[in-house]
Amino acid sequence: MTACGSTGNTTANDTNAESASSATASTYGKFDGESAFSLAKQQCEFGPRVPGTPAHAKCAEWLTNFLKASCDSVMVQTGKVQTAKSGRLDIKNIIGIINPEASQRLLLLAHWDTRPWADNDPDPANHTKPVMGANDGASGVAVLLQLAHQLKQDGTSLGIDIVLVDAEDLGENDVEESWGLGTQYWVEHPHVAGYKPLFGILLDMVGSASATFTREYYSMQYASGFVDLVWNCATGSHFMNSQGGAVTDDHVFVNRAGIPCIDIIDMRADSDTGFGPEWHTVDDTIDHISPITLAEVGQTLLNVIASLEQ
Ligand SMILES: [Zn+2]
Repeated sequence: MTACGSTGNTTANDTNAESASSATASTYGKFDGESAFSLAKQQCEFGPRVPGTPAHAKCAEWLTNFLKASCDSVMVQTGKVQTAKSGRLDIKNIIGIINPEASQRLLLLAHWDTRPWADNDPDPANHTKPVMGANDGASGVAVLLQLAHQLKQDGTSLGIDIVLVDAEDLGENDVEESWGLGTQYWVEHPHVAGYKPLFGILLDMVGSASATFTREYYSMQYASGFVDLVWNCATGSHFMNSQGGAVTDDHVFVNRAGIPCIDIIDMRADSDTGFGPEWHTVDDTIDHISPITLAEVGQTLLNVIASLEQ
């Protein structure tokens, strides 16, 4: 299962990554970071995708149509969730299914909603303004959309489920269950009864030029072997072999439901928040997104998929 190499690499941008790329070159085209960047930009052009707003509704339609063109089938799961601050809310999880008949399946997740409050902004006047979520929302979705598009062209024998979850980012500090509401709904209502993929990969904040992807704590607790697998497949300079902090993100609820799931998330050891400087501020905009980082994350996923096919 580890065609990307399983020797102990010190950083992911070494020869393991090189061999991973060359091993998959005959199967897949290179991941197109510029196209992924354009897909992140298009999400931002709807405005902040805050649940309950017209921009959110329009983006849902666009995401659904994109996946319909790239996947074998699409399911839009609607539900109601209880938020910490905004009462009960209608949500949409948008699910693209590739090779529905395949028994070997990979789960890929990203949240597509954006936070209603830029409550980490240095200017308190911005704390009630919405976050644009170019990184926190659009980046992970963009990589998964572009991946689906390329797999449609190149073909894959693996079953893949792309689950774009809603209402991740309405949480309150120290209230764990107020985060990941769309994912909590999905684990209680999986799109296929008895759904059991090999494992899951969550993408969150995967677009910054200065991103550092460390081995996140819960990913290591629940699914360290899959962290190894993905990190051995990683390309580029942003994947670090260091241990990261713990994040209450969508993957925690997936793991608790019995599906091993890791989080590729940009964490900063040198920051008070644990995240990049634009996190939950009005500066989380497209001008801080790098096509190169998106390409490295997307290529890593292509390498993982190639390794699972062997
Ligand atoms: Zn967030």
